[in-house]
Amino acid sequence: MKLILLGPPGAGKGTQAQRLEENHGYIQLSTGDMLRAAVAAGTEIGLQTKDLMARGELVPNDVVVEIISERIDLPDCVDGFILDGFPRNVAQAEALDEMLADKNLKLDAVVEIAVNDGILINRIEKRASETVGGPREDDNAESLKNRLVVYHEQTAPLIEYYHNKGVLKSIDGMADVDEVSKQIEEVLKQR
Ligand code: ADP
Repeated sequence: MKLILLGPPGAGKGTQAQRLEENHGYIQLSTGDMLRAAVAAGTEIGLQTKDLMARGELVPNDVVVEIISERIDLPDCVDGFILDGFPRNVAQAEALDEMLADKNLKLDAVVEIAVNDGILINRIEKRASETVGGPREDDNAESLKNRLVVYHEQTAPLIEYYHNKGVLKSIDGMADVDEVSKQIEEVLKQR
């Protein structure tokens, strides 16, 4: 199963991807987690992306495209993977199409987890206050506002992009976590 989880920051993509990994063994590929690991390790990519991430801006497309392309080639991805946080704009989606075609792979579904902005702000403030070891560097009001603007301007157009390809499934991300998981499982069953 090759899946994209699409949705705004705080929609619950990471939580749902982790559950899918636990229940089915599909590998969660979170570009946000990979980039945070690069920042923490002080790699060249980390140094290049740290400030952009802290401000809630996107990092350069070629950086994330390269990271994902290399990661998909690792053997644990053969049984399936879940893209969480990638693609985030049309150029990345086009690069992904090309990459999958080159690798002879095909997406099974794109699941949009739909949530409105008011709820997202509350969720992220809650996450920031509950994170052990302190909040993520970008879970502050200023950066969050920017991430939502970036989402609406650059990522939301992917809903139409994948709808036009006939692979989009939208689910209600305002329901509780178990209900959202159930809806995703239903989508997967239909594949
Ligand atoms: P959230 O969805 O909660 O905003 P993520 O963990 O997905 O958080 O991403 C955190 C940050 O990492 C983004 O704001 C951006 O700076 C960077 N990032 C993650 N994925 C991408 C991507 N596909 N393209 C560009 N930047 C990305």
